[in-house]
Amino acid sequence: MQVSDCIFCKIAQREIPSEIVYEDDEILAFKDIQPLAPVHLVIIPKIHLRSLNEVNPEHERLIGHIFGVICRLAEELGVAATGYRVVTNTGTDGGQVVGHLHFHLLGGQALEAKIG
Ligand code: AMP
Ligand code: ZN
Repeated sequence: MQVSDCIFCKIAQREIPSEIVYEDDEILAFKDIQPLAPVHLVIIPKIHLRSLNEVNPEHERLIGHIFGVICRLAEELGVAATGYRVVTNTGTDGGQVVGHLHFHLLGGQALEAKIG
């Protein structure tokens, strides 16, 4: 299920380039184009869900899978021991810019303790 004007759907379809670090049938992880930390990945489901607001019980296994892959990537990228942050901006007040559900994985430096 692809949306033609969605930048992350286009990345998943290889219609625009990105630095992909992980892919399987259901999800994709790529480097954020404007990294906010030494490690900054964006992890997306391949299906177009606009935000967490569209997640329902049928997606529970998919969301669990995403978090499992995030944990593995954090290990592989060497930030699991030092620590990292997973962020999902949702909607306008949440600061979401790209309207395709995604999870930021940030690490490789001490992140600001503040949230919000
Ligand atoms: P958000 O504010 O949570 O919607 O974050 C969207 C993120 O997508 C930002 O951190 C952008 O830098 C990132 N981004 C936008 N376009 C691209 C792209 N073509 N390749 C990689 N990351 C992107
Ligand atoms: Zn999309």
